[in-house]
Amino acid sequence: MNTSNTTEIHPYRLVLLGPPGSGKSSQAAQLAARFGLAHLSTGQILREEVARGTPVGLEAQRYMADGQLVPSELVNRIVGEALQRLERRGFLLDGYPRALDQAEALDKMLTEAALMLDAALYIELSEAMAQARLGARRVCLSCKTVYQASDLAAGAIRCPKCGGMLAQRSDDRPEVIHKRFEVYRERITPVLNYYRRRNQLVSVGGEGGIYAVQQRLLDALLSRR
Ligand code: AMP
Repeated sequence: MNTSNTTEIHPYRLVLLGPPGSGKSSQAAQLAARFGLAHLSTGQILREEVARGTPVGLEAQRYMADGQLVPSELVNRIVGEALQRLERRGFLLDGYPRALDQAEALDKMLTEAALMLDAALYIELSEAMAQARLGARRVCLSCKTVYQASDLAAGAIRCPKCGGMLAQRSDDRPEVIHKRFEVYRERITPVLNYYRRRNQLVSVGGEGGIYAVQQRLLDALLSRR
């Protein structure tokens, strides 16, 4: 199996886990496109709520700005509502569950809908590599395209695609990355153990380029069929 752009409709129900900087959102977008899945990123949904200044956004912002997890009760509600809208379509959850109580809540929601999770995919990455990748990340404030500084002209402040202003995400500063990584590791360990016990955990290395990691995910996923 290769990483070409063919769409092969398969109603997988997946979660994709990985520390900050593991590239999970890019990988999630590609996997979702390949299998025709709905891509649900809790981080993205929360950032949109923050940008719109909704009550959920105002509450979430207090935690997100310094790398803390948003309370599970709030995130579970967002995911529950999104899953209901999908009905029986396949999905890929990106960045959720991030803590054991969220994994348990997800199971409950799926059981109630008589659905099963196919796999929990996990992208492994060291903190040193995460710091290097995230410190160099730039986001277009208009079209939301994400770049590595090395892909842009030196000192570029505008998006090559749409001309929007480029910025660093406020939670991509080194001390916040460190905090996010620590929080992630502490909270994700029981989640990984939970999925491992249920024989649903599929781990792949996150080092190397985006295509290498995508290939590892595809190989691991397809070998489970
Ligand atoms: P991400 O884009 O996945 O790195 O998420 C950015 C931020 O959103 C995180 O640092 C958390 O503050 C918050 N967030 C995203 N997903 C979750 C989740 N499942 N549980 C709690 N907080 C989350």
